[in-house]
Formats: sequence, structure tokens, C-alpha cells
Amino acid sequence: MLRVLILDHQTIIPIPMTNDELWKAVLGEMELSLSRANFTTWFKNTLIISRDQNAVMVSVPNGFVKEWLENKFNKQILYSIRKWTPEIREVKYIIGQTKADLMKQDLTKIILEKELEEKTPTDADQDIDRVTHLNKKYSFETFVVGSSNELAHAASMAITKTIGKLYNPLFIYGGVGLGKTHLIQAVGNKLASEYKDKRILYIPAEKLTANIVEAIRTKTIEDLKNSYSKLDLLVIDDIQFIAGKEKTQDIIFSIFNELHVKNKQVVLTSDRLPKAIPALEERLSSRFEGGMIADIGLPEFETRLAILKSKCSEKGYAVNDEILGYIATNIQKNVRELEGALNRIVAFAQIYNKLPELKEVKNILNAYLSVPYRKTSPQTILKAVADFYNMSLNDLTKRSRKKEVVRPRQVAMYLLREEIKLSFPDIGLKLGGRDHSTVIHACEKIRKEESTSEPLKQELILIKERVYNSFEK
Ligand code: ADP
Ligand code: MG
Repeated sequence: MLRVLILDHQTIIPIPMTNDELWKAVLGEMELSLSRANFTTWFKNTLIISRDQNAVMVSVPNGFVKEWLENKFNKQILYSIRKWTPEIREVKYIIGQTKADLMKQDLTKIILEKELEEKTPTDADQDIDRVTHLNKKYSFETFVVGSSNELAHAASMAITKTIGKLYNPLFIYGGVGLGKTHLIQAVGNKLASEYKDKRILYIPAEKLTANIVEAIRTKTIEDLKNSYSKLDLLVIDDIQFIAGKEKTQDIIFSIFNELHVKNKQVVLTSDRLPKAIPALEERLSSRFEGGMIADIGLPEFETRLAILKSKCSEKGYAVNDEILGYIATNIQKNVRELEGALNRIVAFAQIYNKLPELKEVKNILNAYLSVPYRKTSPQTILKAVADFYNMSLNDLTKRSRKKEVVRPRQVAMYLLREEIKLSFPDIGLKLGGRDHSTVIHACEKIRKEESTSEPLKQELILIKERVYNSFEK
């Protein structure tokens, strides 16, 4: 345990010790001078968490222990520490975490840092084409097909063969992180590589909106429309974003019509069906429904496993089936998360030079999965509900009797109850000072409906995804 150099029977020269080794040495001495009960009371769950040139920081489980160590044992502890590291002048005690907590944190921290290191923005930018804005990493070759995305995949493939003529527009919808962006970028990339002369543009609706606003401000909206109308393929990602933005909708409607009459291909994605996008003009939603609508659902186990295997071979990772199976079993709702979990395992392997044991995998994933939920707050939920129904937080939470707020409010109540177990009276307070019996009634109503109504079930999933995703930023 101790690294000491014994030269003869008197001289002991200390050589550098880790914090753990140093604290063990101190505890060894303390133990000799105290009764068993005393020793356990004051030194259980203590450890050195850091040390600099002249101070040592000791973590203790509570204020009571802190006081005792400071007042009764400090001299003895310092004396003992200085035997091994004579330069230390001071010991500080802080109320901290247990060793297990710290180790878990360390691991998560190291892995997170490593992930960040690897995700240097320049790398990502390099893959993006300047003209089409497509990211080359998204291809059909790396897209795994299963029953959850079969139709969307087939339709996407079909339009690369018949561009503009068959399914126009192609509208792909589904929850967050299920492969919509990947798939539509694959369409763009395939067409770009097969036809050098086709004009292609990929744009997230959020960016398009910003461009439109800017063009209106600088009075260049005609130029903008003009350049869009020359495209052979226009891919707009996350079109639900234009909800409630009337001017943007106007412009998009007009661009859409221009392209459509010329049989130019439009591809759109959304997190929900056109009809379910709030405050989307009827003329636009019926245009969006006029071609082909395909959904992407949650991938089943086999697809999740196949995706993991494909990512492994893409990135040259060697991770065994047991670990992949464990990830695929435990992460079910989101492909992006699946990939994130895999990256963590690989980061671990690089740091420790070995693949984690299944026990360690569990640890890594636990930390991963528990982080977002720990941070869920009533505010996050209310914000997600308001955003989803395209209303202001104020409208949702204020005491108003408008008909269109009734439903979102009931959903908010239900989620506050289900997700963070807020008490009924508290929920009432957060939503315009409603009586707790109103809250109970609302929660019951939504709960019942969730089990019978598929659209509501989907809505709730989408809102929860928003709650979850707001932690990524
Ligand atoms: P969305 O746009 O639906 O939110 P993305 O297309 O961004 O989701 O997908 C999230 C991540 O998951 C991406 O890295 C993507 O490559 C990966 N992914 C999703 N579905 C698949 C699939 N079927 N095969 C391979 N990778 C997938
Ligand atoms: Mg996307």
C-alpha cells in the first residue's frame, strides 16, 4: 500500500503518494490511537479529494464530523500527513460526497471531456458542402432499415430515382433523434453525387425563417424567392418550426408553388403530421399532405442493435455483442442517444485501454441516463408544453378561460404530476391558481385518454422529448 524506500532501519524516505495512499496512511495511524467505535464515527466516508503544494482538502460526510475533525483531530491529522508530505501546512475539511459519488462523477466527467475534445467544430464543418449545405456523413449506405423506418426509407429511395415526379412533396415525420435528418440528407447527397448539374439545397426551417426575416428587412425578398425557385431539390428540415410565423408561411407557400408546378422536388420533415402543427395555414398543410407522407417510429430491438453495429464498423470500434445488446436493450427511445451511449463506452475504452466490464457499462449508462431527468423542473415542463402548442408560457399559466388553453393546461397538469410528482395543490398554483380537485380531474382525464387515443399518446411522447432535449443545449 505504501510506497516507501527503506534504506536502513532508521531512514524512511517518502516517495510521491496518491491522495488515496496518503489518506490511508493517515487513517492507519489514527486507527491506532482511537477506539474502534470512535474511529468509525469520525473517519468513515472521509477522503482526500485534492491537494496542492501546501494544503490538503478532506471531504467529510456532514457538518458534525467536520467540526470534530477541525477541533479535536486536526493537529494529529496534520502531523500524520506531514510525515509523508512535509510541505503540507494546512488541512481543510469540506462537506462533500462519498467516494462512490466522486468516482462516478469523475468517470462521467472524463468521458464528457473526451467527447468534447473529439467533437471539434472544425471537423463537423468540414463535412458540410458550401453550396448545398448537405453534410456528407449522412448517406443511404449508413442508414439502417427496419420496420420502424421502412416506408420512409423506400419513399426516399424512390425520389432519388424519379426526382420531382413521384412523391412531391415527400413529408417525413417522427420523434426526435429517429433519423429524419439523416434520411433526407441522404436523398440530397445521393442526388448531388449522381447529377452534377442539379441544384440542391438543404435548409433547416429555423434558418430559412431567419433568412426570410432578413430578406424582408433588407428588401431582398424577391431575390430570395428567385434563387429558391431555381432549385431542383429543396429539402426543409423541421418544418414545424414555422408554426405561427405567418409571413414566413406566405413566402414558403409561394416558393413551394413555384417549384411544384415545375415538378421540382420538395422534401420536408417534421416532428408531427401537417394537421397537427398548430397555427399552420390550412393551404400549407394541405399542400404538405398532397404528396407522400411517411413516418419514422421507434426502432425495435433488432434495428437498434443493427444501428449500433453499423456505427461500430463505420467508426472502427470493436465493441462486443454483450455490451451492444445491453445498450440496445436499455436505450429505446432515440437513436441519437444510442450513439451517444456507444461513444461513451468507446471513450472509456480509450481512457482505460480496455473495454468496460458489463458492470462498468451499467455505471456509465446510468450516469448518462439519469442526468437529464434529475434536472427536470416544473418550468421546463411548462415551457415544453407551451412551445408544443405554440402558445406563450403566460397564456398557459395565467388564469384565463379561453377555450384553446384548456387542453394544453390539462396536459401540463398531467405531466407535472407524472414526471416530477408535484402535489395537486402545487400544480394548481402553477397553473393559474386552480383548485386541487380541478387538477385531479384533469390528470385523470388525460391518463384515461392516453391509453385509448393514439394521437394523444404521440403528443405526450413529443412533449416529453422536448423536455428531455432541452438539456442537451
Ligand atoms: P432526427 O432528425 O429525426 O432528429 P437524426 O437524423 O439527426 O434524427 O438522427 C440522429 C442520429 O441517429 C444521427 O447520428 C443518425 O445518423 C442516427 N440514426 C438515426 N436513424 C438511423 C438509422 N436508421 N441508421 C443509422 N443511423 C441512424
Ligand atoms: Mg433532425
